[in-house]
Amino acid sequence: MDVNDQCPRCAATRRSWVRDGFYSRLDDAKRIQRWLCKQCGKKFSSATFKPTYRQKKRRINSTVRFGFGSNLCQRDIAELVGVNVKTIAARLIWQAKLSRAKNQRYIQAFIAKHGDIKTVQFDDLVTFEHTNCKPLTVPIAVVDGYRVPLGFGIASIPAFGRLAAIARKRYGKRADHSRATRDALVQQLTQILPENVAFKTDGHTHYPIVIDKHFPKAKHTVHKSERGSVVGQGELKKTRFDPLFSVNHSFATMRAKINRLNRRTWCTTKLPERLADHIDIFIDVFSDRLRLLDVTVWRYRNTQHNAAIVR
Ligand SMILES: [Zn+2]
Repeated sequence: MDVNDQCPRCAATRRSWVRDGFYSRLDDAKRIQRWLCKQCGKKFSSATFKPTYRQKKRRINSTVRFGFGSNLCQRDIAELVGVNVKTIAARLIWQAKLSRAKNQRYIQAFIAKHGDIKTVQFDDLVTFEHTNCKPLTVPIAVVDGYRVPLGFGIASIPAFGRLAAIARKRYGKRADHSRATRDALVQQLTQILPENVAFKTDGHTHYPIVIDKHFPKAKHTVHKSERGSVVGQGELKKTRFDPLFSVNHSFATMRAKINRLNRRTWCTTKLPERLADHIDIFIDVFSDRLRLLDVTVWRYRNTQHNAAIVR
């Protein structure tokens, strides 16, 4: 029995509780132990401490999680598991919270297994909320060679290129939060990376500034970004050797596995927070896939792997 060890009202420990019968849970007909706290008289059950507390459709959780990490849209998932799409929308937020905590544990486990992280690749993925006129940038850091995601941020940026004028006319001036978000992300990375870590990035002008600020001892190499694209796959390069393969391939994976990031899709992000939730669930599912493959075996020689993928 996995019961938490504190009374939800007075925080009394297990010793102060007595068994108080069972009830049959309506959702899955499971027999659930009830408890009574002798200190304060509060009644609760084994289910009280579970993350699924008060859920009515527990059975859908694993499928929902897998669906969000496997390019299904919310309506597809709803149809697949037989619930209303609003239930799925709520479960996205719920699952993301669990996934976020799990992703942190995964990074810790990775460091425990492989030692301090030596090299990190860093780049921005661009998507949008509601319309192409409202772009979002998603700075992400991944472990060089392993593609383990270490963290990401989401920031609004003004539309650029030929959409810039149209966007300003339709929606007014759009705030640029990319620098503040990138700054927060790199600061957060100081918690998990050694100070002499190496960064590999493309030529973005803000990267050296933000890396110098939080990692003054880090080695930072800039590689030419060759984002010449295969149709519909901006991140999947056709160059023979890509020094930023890890991060670019992560972006390509996200484009393929997170439905709202697909290059051509009816599904778009309406709220940046939900995009963050979705990415967190994707990282959770993706980390499990890395673990199944066992990253030690799977770690590729960059050149060979790249050549194999691109032909
Ligand atoms: Zn109590």
